[in-house]
Amino acid sequence: MELDYKRPLAGMTLEELQRTVLGLGMSKFVAKQLADWIYNKRVTTFDEMVNISKANREKLAAQYAVGLSAPVDAQTSEDGTVKYLFDVDEGKKIETVMIPEDDRMTLCISSQKGCRMNCYFCMTGRQGYHGNLTACQIINQVLSVPEAADITNVVFMGMGEPLDNIEEVMKVIEIMTAPWGFAWSPKRITVSTVGVKPALQQLVESTQVHIAVSVHNAVHEERLSMMPLEKIYPIKEVLQMLSDYDFAHQRRLSIEYIMWQWFNDDIKHAEALRGIIPNEHVRVNLIRYHMIPDIAKLRTSSDERMTQFRDYLNSRGITCTIRRSRGEDISAACGMLAGKVKGTQAAKPQPTRTKR
Ligand code: SF4
Repeated sequence: MELDYKRPLAGMTLEELQRTVLGLGMSKFVAKQLADWIYNKRVTTFDEMVNISKANREKLAAQYAVGLSAPVDAQTSEDGTVKYLFDVDEGKKIETVMIPEDDRMTLCISSQKGCRMNCYFCMTGRQGYHGNLTACQIINQVLSVPEAADITNVVFMGMGEPLDNIEEVMKVIEIMTAPWGFAWSPKRITVSTVGVKPALQQLVESTQVHIAVSVHNAVHEERLSMMPLEKIYPIKEVLQMLSDYDFAHQRRLSIEYIMWQWFNDDIKHAEALRGIIPNEHVRVNLIRYHMIPDIAKLRTSSDERMTQFRDYLNSRGITCTIRRSRGEDISAACGMLAGKVKGTQAAKPQPTRTKR
């Protein structure tokens, strides 16, 4: 009987590919050939895998798909940033953003369909949660954008909380860093999180990728009013846990801090942030807020406030920079990705405003 659904091979680790080919009665070596064709040569059909026998290609094609598919839409920003839309299952769409810079080509990838972290300020969070992406759907974003061959860095900062999908994200990191996969240095990969502490500890212990923690407010009650995960994993404890690991050498730990006028941008907040930063090796990135529909009350801080905040931290030995904003005109900037997903609207908590 012919199978309606063919399992994709893209997204499988070498071990999974080996199990697959052995199960079809082929030599284990075919798994290495498959990994090379999919992860290095980025082919989309079995017919192109010419060093695999025709009989084996037919056997594979009868039950499996390669699993790579091109984006269905693209929008280019005035600044050169490109937002790609990928079709995933059940008609859902996800977004991937290519950010070209002088000598870098950074791809910002999604890890979930929507997100269940429900951060007040985030467009993705407001779309609700529609499930995890598979390793295939995640790695497909890296392999199938037109600029795939030129990507220098990947950041897990698109739709979803990567550490809420730790198993598939770990597989993708393995594919990107293993000699049989992309053979990339882990320094080319950054995983961003709002602080899912146990999964973060697992990631830090089992990989060497860079970590970016979305703090956005170091005052517990105020952060809680914007980011519900603060209730389960207070950011202070998350950063405390990270202080046990080495971020002084090859690996980087950065703090992401979106700045909102009146909410988190005065010196009291800079002091609070300084108080939870574990050591001088941590870098702070200040990010302008991009207004999204329905949240008119949140506005980005002025340049002056951002500069004061940065200077305060710099003067106390903390490396802090104001990050350049990219892709705002095509809603590709931080917190603006929505994937045009239709679904349940997330609940809308009200943020605690700074008392002034
Ligand atoms: S900011 Fe990140 S974790 Fe929070 S809702 Fe948006 S995608 Fe999810």
